[in-house]
Amino acid sequence: MVGALLRKARGLVAVTATSAALAASLSLSSSSYCSSSSGETLRTELCIIGSGPAAHTAAIYAARAQLRPIIFEGWMANDLAPGGQLTTTSVVENFPGFPDGILGLDLVDRFRHQSLRAGASIFTETVTKVDLSSSPFRIFTDSKSVLANAVIVATGAVAKRLHFKGSDGFWNRGISACAVCDGAAPIFRNKPLAVIGGGDSAMEEATYLTRYGSKVYIIHRRDRLRASRIMQQRAMSNPKIEVIWNSEVEEAYGEGVLGGLKVRNVVSGEVRDVRVSGLFFAIGHEPATKFLDGQLELDADGYIVTEAGSTRTNVRGVFAAGDIQDKKYRQAITAAGTGCMAALDAEHYLQESGSQIGK
Ligand code: FAD
Ligand code: NDP
Repeated sequence: MVGALLRKARGLVAVTATSAALAASLSLSSSSYCSSSSGETLRTELCIIGSGPAAHTAAIYAARAQLRPIIFEGWMANDLAPGGQLTTTSVVENFPGFPDGILGLDLVDRFRHQSLRAGASIFTETVTKVDLSSSPFRIFTDSKSVLANAVIVATGAVAKRLHFKGSDGFWNRGISACAVCDGAAPIFRNKPLAVIGGGDSAMEEATYLTRYGSKVYIIHRRDRLRASRIMQQRAMSNPKIEVIWNSEVEEAYGEGVLGGLKVRNVVSGEVRDVRVSGLFFAIGHEPATKFLDGQLELDADGYIVTEAGSTRTNVRGVFAAGDIQDKKYRQAITAAGTGCMAALDAEHYLQESGSQIGK
């Protein structure tokens, strides 16, 4: 899988062949600006960090508003190819405009192509640190730095995965980390399924999966759920759901696609066979905020806090879009929606602060 992602990532780099030329044309000559280790500093109205639907939707809107956005799409940031989480899935069937579905990789290629066509500049580099203490803000990669009047952070989140015998082999062949995305696939219809986790996500995903599966097991490592009472009640009152307490999956097996699990009771040590055609990890997500080094307000789970109904963060001129600020919906279309909001919020901010938009 990593090899496939790398091949894909390399393909994307080739599309960015103009990066060097762009860098040259955008470079600042002023020595008053601090630059990164290799010395190159660029100047822009808007810098967008990320490469999923949120970043590209923001870029398309911002480029059309003549903000000349610079996007840092990352280079295997969080072990994902540029394009983000959708690069790890097969067919996306719930993004409007593609009635027959579209491969995740093809969808992100289209996003990227549209950003470039609208006039965004894309650099296949990972942002390693930022300085948001004053405007213009500074964004650093290993090879350059950018001074930007506004910043949109759209670095997403990564669904945590478990690794046990067979878990990688059956990934995307019965094992997934997104029930809402994959649950309706034909291989899961009227088949027994399982969800690992004991939080709200696990309850929500298990309840959702009862629409498709004949039965849904929740496999939880403890004897008590972490989920909120209401979410627990909803799941526990569903006759299709059964909890397997104090248990961990040891092995996934099957022929070509997932056929079952070896599940070990951590108290008794007993191993039981659970026949399922689908297994969904719901053990939390990791928002990609490390490079921010505490400069934006985060909630208790590490997500960027935005003002209700907007993408504004606690730093004026810095906006957040997509899964990095959304632990509830986490869908491509909601990420795209907040990407649009962030670009409009940034445009309004730049207008109010008297920036030289389009001049
Ligand atoms: P992400 O997709 O999370 O991408 C952000 C990207 O930014 C990162 O991956 C990385 O490439 C880049 N980045 C991170 N840090 C940095 C940095 N420091 N510098 C530069 N770049 C950086 N949703 C659907 O609507 N339909 C589906 O069918 C569907 N299927 C899914 C299947 C799987 C297996 C998974 C994991 C998710 C699926 N989703 C689906 C959810 C969807 O992929 C996400 O909700 C969506 O991609 C979030 O978009 P985003 O723009 O917030 O960023
Ligand atoms: P949580 O961190 O709340 O729960 C993760 C669950 O996965 C826990 O039960 C944890 O077990 C289990 N887990 C973690 N690591 C492992 C592991 N290595 N092996 C086995 N099990 C593991 O994450 P959620 O995604 O459920 O929720 C995140 C946040 O999003 C929460 O604030 C939640 O309330 C919110 N949310 C709200 C929703 C809603 O209101 N509709 C829907 C979804 C999420 P243990 O309990 O033993 O630690």
